[in-house]
Amino acid sequence: MSSIARRGCATPFVEGLAVGLIRYQCCLSCERPQNLAKYRCVNCGSKSLIWADSAGVGNVQAVTAIRRASDPVFQALVPYVIVLVRMREAFSLMAIQDPSESQEGFSPDDPDSVKERSCRPLQIGDLVRLYPKRWGEQQGLVAFRSNPLAV
Ligand SMILES: [Zn+2]
Repeated sequence: MSSIARRGCATPFVEGLAVGLIRYQCCLSCERPQNLAKYRCVNCGSKSLIWADSAGVGNVQAVTAIRRASDPVFQALVPYVIVLVRMREAFSLMAIQDPSESQEGFSPDDPDSVKERSCRPLQIGDLVRLYPKRWGEQQGLVAFRSNPLAV
């Protein structure tokens, strides 16, 4: 995972994943949450940003099946699903289908298993729980399981 670049201001987010937390930035001036790590508030421009812990629950805004990956780290997982989730704290976050789940029951020589993997029941609007997932020696991911939460 060392090929994935990250900005210095994202360190609290990455450190949060390592201890089981999904963190997001919040502006002290206007109290608006924002996606991932930025040096300033995208709403008011303030540099007074803090990190808060998300409950990890939100609604799916978009679902994409990935069948080709440019990064060698992710090529081993193809095909897999990523989602864009609008979290309850009013920020959006992308998450990857849990790599261990995406490998379950899959045989590259069995077209039915490929079809099963690419036809997960997750749909736009579904409620999902995201969680940090250790993957590799250094990197954490935000992951999800394909079954939506009961509302
Ligand atoms: Zn602000």
